[in-house]
Amino acid sequence: MPKNDKTRRRKSHAERERIKAKKAASGASYTSAQSGTVHRHRGPELPALDGSGFGADRTADMQTASALIGACLEQCQPCQASLADQVLAGDRLVVASLAGTVYALLPSPGFGCSPATRRFHAVAHDTGRDGYGPAVLAAVEEMSAEDLEALLEDTLDLWAAAAGAAPAPASPAAEDGAPDGEQEQETRRFDVAGGTAYLLSAGIDQLLDREEMQALIQHAEKSAAAGDAVECFLCDQPLDVTAEPEIHLGVAMRTLTLDGRELDTVVPVFTHPGCGRTRVWPWAELMAERQRRGLEVAPEDRQPERPAGQQHPRNADYTTFSLARRPGGGTVPLVLIEPGEPDAYGAEGWLAARLSEGFKPVDLSGQQPFPKLDGWSLRCDGGRLVSVMTASTGAWYRQEGGYATPGEWRKAARQRSALLLVVPSGSVGERQGDQWLEAVSRAAGAGHLLGGLVAVRGTLS
Ligand SMILES: [Zn+2]
Ligand SMILES: [Zn+2]
Repeated sequence: MPKNDKTRRRKSHAERERIKAKKAASGASYTSAQSGTVHRHRGPELPALDGSGFGADRTADMQTASALIGACLEQCQPCQASLADQVLAGDRLVVASLAGTVYALLPSPGFGCSPATRRFHAVAHDTGRDGYGPAVLAAVEEMSAEDLEALLEDTLDLWAAAAGAAPAPASPAAEDGAPDGEQEQETRRFDVAGGTAYLLSAGIDQLLDREEMQALIQHAEKSAAAGDAVECFLCDQPLDVTAEPEIHLGVAMRTLTLDGRELDTVVPVFTHPGCGRTRVWPWAELMAERQRRGLEVAPEDRQPERPAGQQHPRNADYTTFSLARRPGGGTVPLVLIEPGEPDAYGAEGWLAARLSEGFKPVDLSGQQPFPKLDGWSLRCDGGRLVSVMTASTGAWYRQEGGYATPGEWRKAARQRSALLLVVPSGSVGERQGDQWLEAVSRAAGAGHLLGGLVAVRGTLS
């Protein structure tokens, strides 16, 4: 869907105003040599550094470093370049402090960092060692100019991410049934300093860790700053991170075969909000969607008109009620839903669709707490289960007249919380007792048992 030009202009104007207001309010200032104008970039307040912690008998001024972080946050390239040159040419205590501060805290040096940063992280993360501060400074002082530059670049990404793209704090365990779909969405929203928000797909956290997600956002921001913006997967047009108020980031699950071995990979899928909602895609479905939109698809990725899965027969729907032991004690009513309609894109398609809806992997072995599906609920009417409601999009599943529920299930459901489980068509069916458990365990082993705790609403008798 092409973007309306008028909307685009209006937004980028608002963006300029916002940046102007921010600059007016900023602290550290710097005169840009290129333009001869005073740029004021708001960086963190960094007091003069006392070198004694690093075994150095001197202090270092941190104002240039602070302005540099500010310039990174506001993506002012001329200032970044000349401030970085000054920092690199100056006292290495400054880089030791900037880099030491962030890498001491990080359990790993991060996705895509330079080899120099990786080596530095090994020193900086070992905070318990004797002579820690002097070792960190020595590591920086021994670096070649090139390595120092790489370390500074990686460090600035983290400072900018920490100051600008700080993720919303994880939602505290909400009370069962609180209508907090909004809150759940907020935890998947990353606001970066330039004013763009990145909305990440539900389920992306099952495929990427937090650092990887931040690295992808940094990649998009950096690519835009370098004049080579990332493209929307659903229209092949560049994503203008300075003009778009929101950018969607989903992923595609792609299985590659290398030397006869299957390798599961995760491909980032950046999209315009107008081109399609953010989600987890099976590769085949993403390619089919590109094909449908007339975009280029490699010959080996071309999809048949009718996906293979649609040719499978439809099974009956199964809804089973049982009780599950809660890890840590007590029981919880359980409902397992197995829709009979096979996913058009097979097991991978099923998994991608459910993860996008917010379902999470469930471990029934008692070793992991059950995940929660915030805002989801089971709706009962007179003790019959009539629908499964999502946080935001209404009924996920509805049964005309409802399903009768067993007495002990209704009794357990008085705690107003239940474990909702879903499996792909054909996984469990009408098996009973031990065979039912075996089939559910098999689905879990294949990564195809998803669900979570949901609220129970309505009347139980
Ligand atoms: Zn500037
Ligand atoms: Zn697009």
